[in-house]
Amino acid sequence: MVKLMEKIWKISSLTPLQTGGVNGRTDRVYETGIMGSLRWWYEVLVRGLGGKACDPTAKEVRCPQDSSKKPTDPGHHCVVCELFGCTGWARKFRLMVVDENGGVIQDQIRAGQIFALKFIPLRQIRPEEWCLLDLTLRLIDKCGAIGGKTVFKPSEEWGIADLGAEDLDDSSGQVIVHHARRGLPLQGNDVILEIEGTQVASLTEVETLLRGRRHGDPLTIMVQRRGSQTQIDAWVGKRHHQDFGLIAVEARPQGVECTREQIEAYVKDDRWCKGFDNSAFSWASLQHFWCVKRRYLARQDADTSSFNFVIGRPEPKNQSSQGDSWLAGRRPNRQRNIDPESKKVFSFKEPENARRTFGFVQNQDGFQEIMERLKVLRDGNGNGRKPDPGWKDFDPEKEFIKGEQILERLFS
Ligand SMILES: [Zn+2]
Repeated sequence: MVKLMEKIWKISSLTPLQTGGVNGRTDRVYETGIMGSLRWWYEVLVRGLGGKACDPTAKEVRCPQDSSKKPTDPGHHCVVCELFGCTGWARKFRLMVVDENGGVIQDQIRAGQIFALKFIPLRQIRPEEWCLLDLTLRLIDKCGAIGGKTVFKPSEEWGIADLGAEDLDDSSGQVIVHHARRGLPLQGNDVILEIEGTQVASLTEVETLLRGRRHGDPLTIMVQRRGSQTQIDAWVGKRHHQDFGLIAVEARPQGVECTREQIEAYVKDDRWCKGFDNSAFSWASLQHFWCVKRRYLARQDADTSSFNFVIGRPEPKNQSSQGDSWLAGRRPNRQRNIDPESKKVFSFKEPENARRTFGFVQNQDGFQEIMERLKVLRDGNGNGRKPDPGWKDFDPEKEFIKGEQILERLFS
């Protein structure tokens, strides 16, 4: 019997990792959130290296496709499910998020904190799988972010600054906060008067304004607090649906070095299930990925948003955008049976030394399209679109990095 050796990656958080503490529960939230994110980036990497990865959240395409096969039969599951598990085939490892001394982390992980991801094998993990895990973590470090899968599959549950319907009361004809929690912008007995400039008097009106908007998007709320009106800066939804986090890999374990040829041969091996239609999510591949470091997209003022400009949404605030673009993603609509779809551009402003903007395109022409839009941010378009100072001197040749270049760097 081969001894199963755990491997530990030492990580520093560059932002808080917003995954814990939902209603005071901290149990396993980190592990669940980080696991979901790791798997997602692992899928992106596998597809980028020419392998096929199923989408475990989509019933029609998740493994196993053919339940008459035994889990050890060739074609039972894809190369990602081999490590992360699927129905009938358990995940090969247990993940623990621990502090520097190996203790369980109870509180939210703060910016600048050192922690460790401990992978404890439950069955033999192949050298190629350890290498892929290492590549995944270094990819997140270089050009991605840790976030629960909910980042990429927006939740349908609505919320406001971490509070939900159960925390609000409208029986008096006004929307009153009756459950608040420490550290949140809305306080107990606040009366919510306006959201983004629109008056609200019932939970239904609040829900209509918020449903389908993305968790974590900024939101301005006017409240009546202790007799006076106060404008507060808040966010859409509940942050445990956002849980973004930038990380840096500080130390890697031994035994995670592989060549690109070795990894490509492994992910393309005949034993993995490949016979599913991945057209709906094949964009989630490093071959469709781009990244610009040290620059970010944001809203500049009520009429200007470089973020909206890049994803092809109207820039002025409060302008609804029916017929969202592919880049902008899609808001869910239960009545019309429309599932939510992730936006494809992500941007991080803080901390300054880890700033980044990254995204995915549908096909190779998409890269050029994004680059042209980023150049408009640099130069303006002579048509009222002023330059965004944050993109001054942007040099696409040097700064616009595609997934293939990232792969080369990860293996060099
Ligand atoms: Zn699979």
